[in-house]
Amino acid sequence: MRATNTTGALPVISTGRTYTSSFDIEELIESLHELFALDRQTASQQDSTRCGICYMHFSVSSLVYREEEGFYVCKNCERTLGKQKLPMLRRQQKQ
Ligand SMILES: [Zn+2]
Repeated sequence: MRATNTTGALPVISTGRTYTSSFDIEELIESLHELFALDRQTASQQDSTRCGICYMHFSVSSLVYREEEGFYVCKNCERTLGKQKLPMLRRQQKQ
């Protein structure tokens, strides 16, 4: 995913793909709804901020601020990213 999301909107999920019949799209949508509901819930909390990579909300204390690149990263993305450097177009404000 390219880091072009500077508007604060959630990433657009492409529905233009053709899935195989064994793939349960309703189950996916259901799990996404739960995910977004949870995200909104977290976003409404005062100390929440976004992970610079997956754009999900987390409380600041559970995110790691990467000084060098200038964005917060959640534990999941941190694990995925590892020691790899990921320069962002727009730096996040450190809270
Ligand atoms: Zn993340």
